[in-house]
Amino acid sequence: MWGDLMNFLDLQLNISLKNSLNSLDKGNRMPHALIISGGSEDDRKALCDHLAAWAVCSSDGDRPCGDCKNCKNAFDRAHSDVYFAKGSGKTKIYKAEELRDIIRDASIKPNQADRKVFIFEECDKKLSEISQNILLKTLEEPPQDILFILTCENSKNLLETIRSRSVTLNLGDEKEVVGKSKELAEEILSSMLMSSEIELMRATYKLGDRFSALETLESIVIMLRDGLCTQSGFAPENNTEIAEKLCRKLTKAQFLELIEITNSAQLRINQNVSLELVGTWLCSQYRKTVW
Ligand SMILES: [Zn+2]
Repeated sequence: MWGDLMNFLDLQLNISLKNSLNSLDKGNRMPHALIISGGSEDDRKALCDHLAAWAVCSSDGDRPCGDCKNCKNAFDRAHSDVYFAKGSGKTKIYKAEELRDIIRDASIKPNQADRKVFIFEECDKKLSEISQNILLKTLEEPPQDILFILTCENSKNLLETIRSRSVTLNLGDEKEVVGKSKELAEEILSSMLMSSEIELMRATYKLGDRFSALETLESIVIMLRDGLCTQSGFAPENNTEIAEKLCRKLTKAQFLELIEITNSAQLRINQNVSLELVGTWLCSQYRKTVW
């Protein structure tokens, strides 16, 4: 249980983060990858150390107990099963070679604890797209006793494919679903679920100017990710009605595809493709995936 952890974790945790931590802890559901985003670098470090200790702690009661040898070594950043990626060069970039070494090591059993933890800090600056793709291959078929922890300022700087296979713990300051963009995002997703072509066209037609279109699409991505989270048994960042509706109708594969389609639409808008074309394209892709 996290009761104790919260006490000696000297951080102000927001409600959605508390929910995520609790659902992680419940029933020993250990994901293979956690992303810690938002907050300050020190806050991310503190949460990262606690999660690493939680993963290796040998207590049968509250974890991390802070007392066992595994915990103590983990908090000292000196545990043989908790590996901090080192990075190389001046910028401390995590290079492909290091990633490959880590992945090879991940398939070998842990030394003292029940699992191995690999930590990549400040990924938005240090984990390139190439390295993320190497990591992704392992996340697709992860060894049982592995936990990757990635910290970053903003999880949106990581590949969507990495994010959708991880549980994101947000310390705050990341954009939340709000206002008008939220309403329109809900409308688009609802009409997509209703399988009504006209309704869907009508809704995407309202995307408006580039700025609000990007905002709406971002809201759609957040809602889809929340739906995917709910379906995988983790607490979503925002508790929206639409996430539950999506969850009842869509498969995991459909969720992942819809997220990728929405990301491509954002990219097209950023590349100055006309909004009308993007809207029409989005409609047809959504239809193809869901109907
Ligand atoms: Zn312990």
